[in-house]
Amino acid sequence: MVKHLPARVRGQVAEHVVRLKAEHAIIPGLAVVLVGEDPASQVYVRSKGKLTVEVGMHSVEHKLDVDTSEADLLAVIDQLNADAAIHGILVQLPLPNHLNEDLVISSISPAKDVDGFHISNVGLLGTGQKSMVPCTPLGCLMMLRDHFGSLSGCDAVVIGRSNIVGKPMAQLLLGDSCTVTIAHSRTKDLADVVRRADIVVAAVGRAEMVPGDWIKPGAVVIDVGINRIPAPEKGEGKMKLVGDVDYATCAEVAGAITPVPGGVGPMTIACLLANTLTATCRANGLPEPEGLTS
Ligand code: NDP
Repeated sequence: MVKHLPARVRGQVAEHVVRLKAEHAIIPGLAVVLVGEDPASQVYVRSKGKLTVEVGMHSVEHKLDVDTSEADLLAVIDQLNADAAIHGILVQLPLPNHLNEDLVISSISPAKDVDGFHISNVGLLGTGQKSMVPCTPLGCLMMLRDHFGSLSGCDAVVIGRSNIVGKPMAQLLLGDSCTVTIAHSRTKDLADVVRRADIVVAAVGRAEMVPGDWIKPGAVVIDVGINRIPAPEKGEGKMKLVGDVDYATCAEVAGAITPVPGGVGPMTIACLLANTLTATCRANGLPEPEGLTS
């Protein structure tokens, strides 16, 4: 279902970047701010930086010590907000405990908030207006549109109600005229709720919790979860990544399903680049690239 889509999106972004340079002498710039040395975050940041350069954009990384003060972090963000060469700013989450994430996110200029987490962008998305859309749900939406064409009238279940995945995902599906149910830890009869859905988006963070017998035959399953679990079959102490759905049993009944790793993750990064392009076009009063926003 998703095999070629991230590369296709990155290719479209790269073509637009070439045109922006040639016709307007503009190079989109993305700044990623990483505080501390969380190994998973370091991997994400490296991969984002590499792909940013690959599509022809200007990539900046700010790596700050784990004990960086809130004032120093806000000063870096202020400087990036004011930098005309930077069109997108991403602060890698989670932040160390002594830093207030809400305050930090609210200090990013909404126009450069390529993660779509600023309260202005959340409000714009919720009211169906043009916004910066969070990358993971945007990537899921693109995969679903690619598969279905129109999503109008589909029954969709989103498992998880976080601000970064579940809620914006539900808003986007609603925007495409799905009938949306948001499930969470207090949902009764989750299996029955999921069995009614044409589209299942699992964003829970619990390894392989959705079995195949919850899936309606032919339904499309998008697995957002990333869970590290022991993999004794690979050797003592080895770990592996799995999603929130049990891939083997769900793949037997689903019409299409995304794998973990290799499904939603690469689309998330492709959408980060698409959002940076969109932010660049908006900042310069140019038409937005078609098919790369919600
Ligand atoms: P959160 O922990 O913020 O939210 C998890 C949600 O799952 C909550 O709404 C919670 O409900 C719900 N939940 C927990 N247990 C159950 C249960 N037994 N039944 C039903 N719902 C349950 O997680 P995120 O949204 O941030 O992330 C979800 C997963 O997606 C994680 O594995 C994360 O690593 C992954 N992820 C992957 C990305 C990618 O690029 N591929 C990007 C972002 C996240 P309640 O609100 O009631 O507590």
